Amino acid sequence: MGEGAPVSEPLPMVDLAEQQRRLRPAIDRAIARVLDHGRYVMGPEVAELEDRLAGTCGAGHVVTCASGTDALLLCLLVHEVGPGDAIFVPDFTFPATAEVVALIGATPVFVDVFEDTFDLDPANLVDAVAGVRRDHPRLRPRGVIVVDLFGQPADHAVIADAAREADLWVVDDAAQSFGAGTPTGAVGTLAPMTTTSFFPVKPLGCYGDGGAVFTGDGEVADRLRSLRVHGQGSHKYDTVRVGINGRLDTLQAAILIEKLAIFPDELRRRRAVADRYEGALTGVVQTPRVRDGWGSAWAQYTVKVDRRDEVADRLRAEGISTAIYYPRPLHAQPAYRDHPRSAGGLSVAERLARRVLSLPMHPYLEPGTQDRVIDGVRRAVGAE
Ligand SMILES: *Cc1c(COP(=O)(O)O)cnc(C)c1O
Repeated sequence: MGEGAPVSEPLPMVDLAEQQRRLRPAIDRAIARVLDHGRYVMGPEVAELEDRLAGTCGAGHVVTCASGTDALLLCLLVHEVGPGDAIFVPDFTFPATAEVVALIGATPVFVDVFEDTFDLDPANLVDAVAGVRRDHPRLRPRGVIVVDLFGQPADHAVIADAAREADLWVVDDAAQSFGAGTPTGAVGTLAPMTTTSFFPVKPLGCYGDGGAVFTGDGEVADRLRSLRVHGQGSHKYDTVRVGINGRLDTLQAAILIEKLAIFPDELRRRRAVADRYEGALTGVVQTPRVRDGWGSAWAQYTVKVDRRDEVADRLRAEGISTAIYYPRPLHAQPAYRDHPRSAGGLSVAERLARRVLSLPMHPYLEPGTQDRVIDGVRRAVGAE
C-alpha cells in the first residue's frame, strides 16, 4: 500500500471537511463580524445574501427562510392553501414535499415520475387531475409542486403547459437543484415560485438549517417577507395575515455568503465527478440521463441496478458508502397510505424505489477515490 489512505478507509457519501478547510478562515471572519455587530436576527448579511442569490440565478426576488420545508410552507401560504384543496406532488421525493401540504390541512395527491430523469411526468399529472375531478368531487385541484430530483431541473415548460390546462399553479421544489440551468434559464426562474434548502449536504449548504424562495413577482415577494415574520404588516405589531417564524439566522447567511463565492467552482467539480462516473459506468449500471443542453447540480449521482440491496451490501463490505433515495414511494409510507393517488398509476415510482442507488458525490472527491467507487461498482454488479 502506498503513501495515501489505506484502501479500507471508509468512503463516505458526502465529506464536508475539505470544503471547511478551504473556507475556514473566511467563515471564522464572517462569524466574528456577526458577533461584533450583534444583529443575530435579520442582520445585514441576510439582505446581502438575498441579493447575491438573486444575482446567481437571475430571479427578480429572493426571500430567505429557516429551511427548505418552510420555503414550501410559505409558498402554500401565499396561495392560501387549506382544507379541501388537492395539491399534486411527485410520489418519488423527500417527504417534506408532501408533508407541508398535509400539515396545513390540504390533500397531497401522488403523481408518477419519469424513469430516466426521476422527475414529474406531466401526462401522469393530467391523469391524476382528471381522477381527482371524477372520484373526489369535494376536493378542489389547485396546484402542483414539482421537484428537481437529484439536481436536474424537471421539464418545467411542459409541466407549465399541463398545469395551465388543468388550472393549477406551480411551485418548483429546487432543494436539490439550486445552481443548475436549462437552455431557457437557471433554477430559480423556471416557475413562478421556486424553493430551495441550505441543509448542510445540499449542493449549497450552510451549517444548520436554511432555505429560500425565488420569485419574479414583487407582490409575492412582499407577501413572503410578511409571512416569514408572523404575517407582519408595515409595523412590527401590525399583523395582516397568519404567518410563521420562518427567518434565516444572520450567522447562517454570513456562512452562506462565503460558500456562495466558491459555489460555481464546486458545481464544476461535481460535474467532473458525474462525467467520470458516466464514462466509466455506462453499460455497467443504468446511469442517470441529463436532458440535452441541460445541467444538473448533481446533489446525487443515482444509478439503477437490479438486486440493488445486494449491490449496496457488497459495496459496504469494501467500505464504500451508498444511499437509497428513496426506499419507498410516498404513497406506500404509513403516514400517506390513505391519500389519493394518480389515476394513471404509480408503477415507475414503485420500480425506482427498488432499483435506485446513490453513489458518493461531493466536490472534493479525488480521481483516485472516484476510481475506487467505479471499480467497486463494477465488481459488485459482477462486471469484472
Ligand atoms: C431537503 C429537501 C427538502 C427539505 O429541505 P429542509 O431544508 O431539510 O427543510 C424538501 N424537498 C426536497 C426535495 C429535499 O431534498
